[in-house]
Amino acid sequence: MDFLSKKARGIVPYTAGEQPKERRYIKLNTNENPYPPSPRVAEVLRTLETEDLRRYPRPDAGKLRAAIAAAEGVGAENVFCGNGSDEVLALSFPAFFDGDGAGACFADLTYSFYEVFAAFFGIPTKIVPLRADFTFDLAAMQAADCQGYYIANPNAPTGVGIGRAEMERFVASVPEKLVVLDEAYMDFFGESCVPLTGKYPNVLVVKTFSKSYSLAGIRCGYAVGDAVLIDGLTRMKDCFNSYPVDMVAEAVCTAAIEDKAYYAEVTARVVSERERVRAALLSMGFTVPESRSNFLFAGRAKVSGGEIYTRLRQAGVLVRYWEKPVLRDFVRITVGTPEENDALLSQLHTILS
Ligand SMILES: *Cc1c(COP(=O)(O)O)cnc(C)c1O
Repeated sequence: MDFLSKKARGIVPYTAGEQPKERRYIKLNTNENPYPPSPRVAEVLRTLETEDLRRYPRPDAGKLRAAIAAAEGVGAENVFCGNGSDEVLALSFPAFFDGDGAGACFADLTYSFYEVFAAFFGIPTKIVPLRADFTFDLAAMQAADCQGYYIANPNAPTGVGIGRAEMERFVASVPEKLVVLDEAYMDFFGESCVPLTGKYPNVLVVKTFSKSYSLAGIRCGYAVGDAVLIDGLTRMKDCFNSYPVDMVAEAVCTAAIEDKAYYAEVTARVVSERERVRAALLSMGFTVPESRSNFLFAGRAKVSGGEIYTRLRQAGVLVRYWEKPVLRDFVRITVGTPEENDALLSQLHTILS
């Protein structure tokens, strides 16, 4: 007896990075921030009125949307919030793509959830390979026959970024197609395309509290775009879950997004460590594309990514590795605290010698 639907039996789900609890690892595998969230978050949780929790939260996350709108310089009608940006991205597929349409276009090496969502919602895909240096082939993407695009900027797992001016030329060249920009790591780059959303109704920018805001555990993300796009997402949300952003998440994220000074400092620390670790990896003979994110994509001749991953794991350092073409020659290393990064580099020295 098999009670599962054909869809449940056939689908290949996304595999998240491991979160082992049995041993304390130096965890550089899921791009979490090594620093704690703003102290204002702790204050919100300390003073939370637990009595309020008997009520449902705001279905439209109105308070948080207003805070995001203020921080991003857009109207509240231009903001949509979800249970992590993964949920926002998931809802975007049925909101903007048709099963019998020309499909969603994205790179071969990018966030692997796009492929899972497309398969789940029955949306065709058009895959455009990255160039050999891991940059996006925007000319080939522009020429692709598709309904729209998913571009992670900076890209994952490569860390490569596209500047705002270049992205504006791209979105202006495809006015009839939707461009979803996944800016999960954009705060480490500072070239957000949110300012383009007022001018280009085909641009939807998706962001998250999980990385630069140190709030992966709270599960909250958002989209910024034309009110027509936001309405499409809301219609899809209201077919799945009326309240994807719970009361605690709404209060915590509102406090976080208002603490610009704290996050500017933490982000600067991560960026400066990223450059230090990259220089050290280059001097050890690794190939490391220039990263605009909070992680480094590193590979080295004569030693596979799998071997580095396994040896580091034995030494108590977790990095991310994929057993897939091209990716298997690399590991993705999240930038940690200076102490964690030193431990990583010293283990790599041992492994290579
Ligand atoms: C981490 C990540 C996300 C989403 O994370 P949430 O925790 O669901 O907000 C989205 N896109 C990319 C490229 C990511 O790396």
